[in-house]
Amino acid sequence: MYSGHSESNSKSRSSVKRKLINLAHGTGLIRAGRSLWAKSLTVVNYHRIDNPYRKGFDSFKPNISATPDDFHRQMDYLATWFNVVSMREVVQWLDGQKELPPYAALITFDDGYLDNYLSAYPILRQHNFPALIFLTTEHIGTDAPFYWDMAAYCFHHTKRDQLGFPDGRIEYWSNHEERDQVSNKWIELMKTYPQAEKLVYVQQLPEALGISVPQGYFQKLMMNWDHVRGMRKGGIEFGAHTMHHPILTRVSLDEVRAEVEGSKSRIEKELGEPILSFAYPNGQSSDLNDPIEKIVAASGIRAAFTLLNGPSPQGEVKRNPFAIRRIFISYKHSLPEYAALLSPINRYRSN
Ligand SMILES: [Zn+2]
Repeated sequence: MYSGHSESNSKSRSSVKRKLINLAHGTGLIRAGRSLWAKSLTVVNYHRIDNPYRKGFDSFKPNISATPDDFHRQMDYLATWFNVVSMREVVQWLDGQKELPPYAALITFDDGYLDNYLSAYPILRQHNFPALIFLTTEHIGTDAPFYWDMAAYCFHHTKRDQLGFPDGRIEYWSNHEERDQVSNKWIELMKTYPQAEKLVYVQQLPEALGISVPQGYFQKLMMNWDHVRGMRKGGIEFGAHTMHHPILTRVSLDEVRAEVEGSKSRIEKELGEPILSFAYPNGQSSDLNDPIEKIVAASGIRAAFTLLNGPSPQGEVKRNPFAIRRIFISYKHSLPEYAALLSPINRYRSN
């Protein structure tokens, strides 16, 4: 998961940005610069394909990348302007065995949500597109939610209107929108704590909000290993995304090694093939470093992915395939915004 892009822009700034993007799109500016970037690798990153406005939606909204309809339109866009490649082709290219096509694009998903199977997979099949799904292995085939989905559930259903945060502040809300903002703030704060401390606060949250979570409530949130094997037969590839989704700079290097190797070997055992790709949890520059990249490389992983803004020139990817940039997609993005995010101008956004 990653949610950092979504709440930072003020409304007025984002509407100006939207107008500029629409203008650039409408006048062909975005397309004009494309030819300079034929030898690039554009990696798009999704988490969940669902409708966050549907009745009863009570999990973490910023993890929704697109509604099924928007996802379909985005795949049409890729089919028109890009050549979608598989991870296998990227590895063959890294090995010098073959060239990548011009305007190569790789479609990735993080975490392993069931909606990838139910909603994204049929659309990918219609387009005959490969895609790469990064699995947090201890959440596959279990009803254990990620802490952000658990927190979103508790905030959604609480009757309370305030919460004391672990850092001492007290946050109040008086409507659903404010409550969602506080929920997102709490989730962002969790990312700053060491893993063990974070788990303690997560465990205390339901009681602090007067919530008891019904048994098995999250059973249909994540995919199971049968879904994984079924999609593998249909051309979808899988990569590792740790066992428990810690931010790797917030645990010891021994734990990093256990999380990387543990998730890789679990998927290998379930699928009976080598797993060659990895995605860093949260994926921002403060969430990985040289020693972590070295551990990932030593595990037999051949390519690892961040959530820093893409796309990337192919030469850059070849120089360091252990910090490949990806473009974070949110359900808030219109199709012109999607087009702008996938264009080289996206590299000039800060991060
Ligand atoms: Zn993730």
